[in-house]
Amino acid sequence: MNKIALLPRHGIYLPQMGYGNDAKFARVFRDTWPRLPLWARRAMLANWRTKSSPPLLCLPHIKVLDSWARRKKEVGIYFPAREEILFRAPAVDLMPDEILSVLISHELAHAASYAAALWFTNDGYKGTQDEEFATRDMNWGWGFEEDELDAWLHENNSAMQRHCRRGRKKK
Ligand SMILES: [Zn+2]
Repeated sequence: MNKIALLPRHGIYLPQMGYGNDAKFARVFRDTWPRLPLWARRAMLANWRTKSSPPLLCLPHIKVLDSWARRKKEVGIYFPAREEILFRAPAVDLMPDEILSVLISHELAHAASYAAALWFTNDGYKGTQDEEFATRDMNWGWGFEEDELDAWLHENNSAMQRHCRRGRKKK
């Protein structure tokens, strides 16, 4: 499978799965990453490097998919146990770049928090509402407008559901 560079210096690539506009995702990801604080980038890279054993296991697994099990409403999700960050193809395709940036940095804020072990000390914290609020706050602090993402999702929910790969206009 072809892959597109996300952070090639660190061996991080996006598999080109073809569910959505992988090239657009990769471009926006590369623009978003340098806007994150240095501590967050360092924590994630160190965490992924530690858990990887190349060439067989190269983390993280970042993918643009059309769907994933039992998670119909989410447009992005981070699974800490697998260091997997998934993004929903219709959202990637339809979002303006800046909105997609907010979504990407939000999922990376989850990943950075786990990498920096911010939430490991409190068993009840992981995957809770509190984690979501804390992540939104963190993302805001990094300069990404969570409320603009909320508004976009609210306005475009039905458009996203109608959207499919086949219906995408060739440009
Ligand atoms: Zn979240």
